[in-house]
Amino acid sequence: SNEQIALFTIFGGTGDLAKRKLYPSLFRLYRKGFLKERFAVIGTARREWTDDYFREVVKESLIDFDSSENELDSFASHFYYQSHNVTETEHYHNLKKLATALDEKYRLNQNRIFYLAMAPNFFGLITEHLKSEKIVTPDGFNRLIIEKPFGTDYNSAAKLNDEIRGAFEEDQIFRIDHYLGKEMIQNISAIRFGNNILESLWNNKYIDNVQVTLAEALGVEERGGYYDKSGALKDMIQNHTLQVVSLLAMEAPAIFTEKNIREEKIKALNSVRIYSPEEVKQNFVRGQYGAGKLAGKEFINYRDELNVDPQSETETFVAGKLMIDNFRWRGVPFYVRSGKQLTEKGTRINIVFKPTPINVFRSENETACQAQDTPRNILTIYIQPTEGFSLTLNGKEIGDGFNINPVKMDFRHSADTLDNSPEAYEKLILDCLKGDSTNFTHWDEVAQSWRIVDVIRHVWDQETTEFPNYASGTMGPQAAFDLLERDGFNWIWNP
Ligand code: NAD
Repeated sequence: SNEQIALFTIFGGTGDLAKRKLYPSLFRLYRKGFLKERFAVIGTARREWTDDYFREVVKESLIDFDSSENELDSFASHFYYQSHNVTETEHYHNLKKLATALDEKYRLNQNRIFYLAMAPNFFGLITEHLKSEKIVTPDGFNRLIIEKPFGTDYNSAAKLNDEIRGAFEEDQIFRIDHYLGKEMIQNISAIRFGNNILESLWNNKYIDNVQVTLAEALGVEERGGYYDKSGALKDMIQNHTLQVVSLLAMEAPAIFTEKNIREEKIKALNSVRIYSPEEVKQNFVRGQYGAGKLAGKEFINYRDELNVDPQSETETFVAGKLMIDNFRWRGVPFYVRSGKQLTEKGTRINIVFKPTPINVFRSENETACQAQDTPRNILTIYIQPTEGFSLTLNGKEIGDGFNINPVKMDFRHSADTLDNSPEAYEKLILDCLKGDSTNFTHWDEVAQSWRIVDVIRHVWDQETTEFPNYASGTMGPQAAFDLLERDGFNWIWNP
C-alpha cells in the first residue's frame, strides 16, 4: 500500500502558509490514499484554540475542493491543536504528552515530521527543545521541514544551520525551496538526460548563452514589511534562481538518485565564479519599480507601498550574468533575472544555441565573415504559468528564393493535465514522508549560494542607488538590457 504513517507537528499552525498550502496539500494526499487512518496533525501557535475551532479552520482552508461534509470531517478529525509559545520550555511538555497519546491512538510507529512554518529566528530554539524535551523519538523517523529564508547571508545561515544540526542530522533536514516541487523544474532533468539530441549539445561548443527569468507581475502587496528587509537578490536569486542554474549546469549523475543528483548540483554551484567587487559592478544590475500602468491598472511606486520605507533602497529587480568555470561551461554566460511588477508573470528558461559555423545561405557577393548568422536555435522551457517546452529550428520559407525562417515546435501541457498535477507543496510533503530529499536543498547548496550572493550584496550595500529606475509593467531597468547587448545578445523573452 501507498499509505504513509506519521505525526505532523506544524509550528505556526494558525499562519498563512499553513492555511494556504499545508492543509490543502495534506488533504490532497489524504484523498489520494497516501494518508489514511494512521496519521495525525498537531497544529501549534500562541493563540488559544480548541480542537474543534482548529478543525473548522482546517475545513475552511479546503473550500475550493469539491468534497462531502463527511469526507472533510473525517479528514479534520485527525487534527489537534496545542496552544504553544515556542519560547516556553514547559509548553513542550504538553506537546510531548499530546504527541505520545496520538502516537498510540493512531499507531504512528513514532514517525514524526516537524514543520516549522514560522519566522526563522525561532528555528534554533524549537529544534533545541524538540531534542532536550525528547519530542524527537528514539525509534521512528524524525524529519524537520523548514521554510525559507534560510539565513540572510552566509554567516547567519551557518549559525542557523549549526543550531539545527545540534538536534537533527543533515539527512533529517528538509529545507523547502518550493520551486523544486514544481513539475517543470523536475522536468529539466528529464529534458536534459532523456534526450541525446539535447544533452550531446549541452556544452560550450554548441550553447551560446543560457537565460533564466523568474518574473512576477505583482508588486509586494501586503508583504512589504518582510520584503523591504530582503529584496530580490535574497528572496529570489540566492535560492530559486541558483537552484535552477545548478539543475541546468550540473553533470549527468551516474544514476538518478538523491545522493548522486545532489553531488552534481553542488559541484555545479561550486564552479560558479565568485565575483570580485569590480566584476559585480560589471555583471549585476538592480532595480526598483516606480509607478506605472499595466493592463489598464495603475501601479504606485514601490516606496509608497504599505510598510515600505519611503526612502527604501531595496531592489525589486535583479539581473546578472553568472559564469561557470568548468570544462563544460567555460565562456557561456548564464543570464538570470527576477523582478516584481514586470510585464508578465512567468518562469522561463531559454537555451540559446550557437549559429551554424557559416551561413551558406548568404548572397554570393557577401563573404562568410560579412554574412549574418543563421537564426539561433532556441530551446525554451516553460516552468509557469504554462508548462512545456519549445524548440525553434530553421526551415526554408515557402516560395521563391531561399529564405531561412525559424519555426517553433511547441509542446505545452493541457490545462486538464495541469489541473490534475500535484501542487508543489503536496509533492514535497509526500517526498518528506517517503524520506526522499532530492527536491530539497542540502546545506552545501545553501552555503555556496550565499557565498555567491554575499559579494554582490556587499558591493551594493556600499553604493547609493537611483531608485526607482524602472516603470511598473516593463521588464526592468535599461541596464538589464545593456548587460546582454554588451555581449552581442538580447533577452529572448521580451514581452
Ligand atoms: P504567519 O505570520 O502567517 O504565521 C506565523 C505563525 O507563527 C503564526 O501561526 C503565529 O501564531 C506563530 N507564532 C509566532 N510567534 C510564535 C511564538 N512565540 N510561539 C508560537 N507560535 C508563534 O507567517 P507565514 O506566512 O505562515 O510564514 C511562515 C514561514 O514560512 C515564514 O518563515 C515565512 O518566511 C515562510 N514562508 C511563507 C510563505 C507564504 O506563502 N506565506 C511562502 C514561503 C515561505
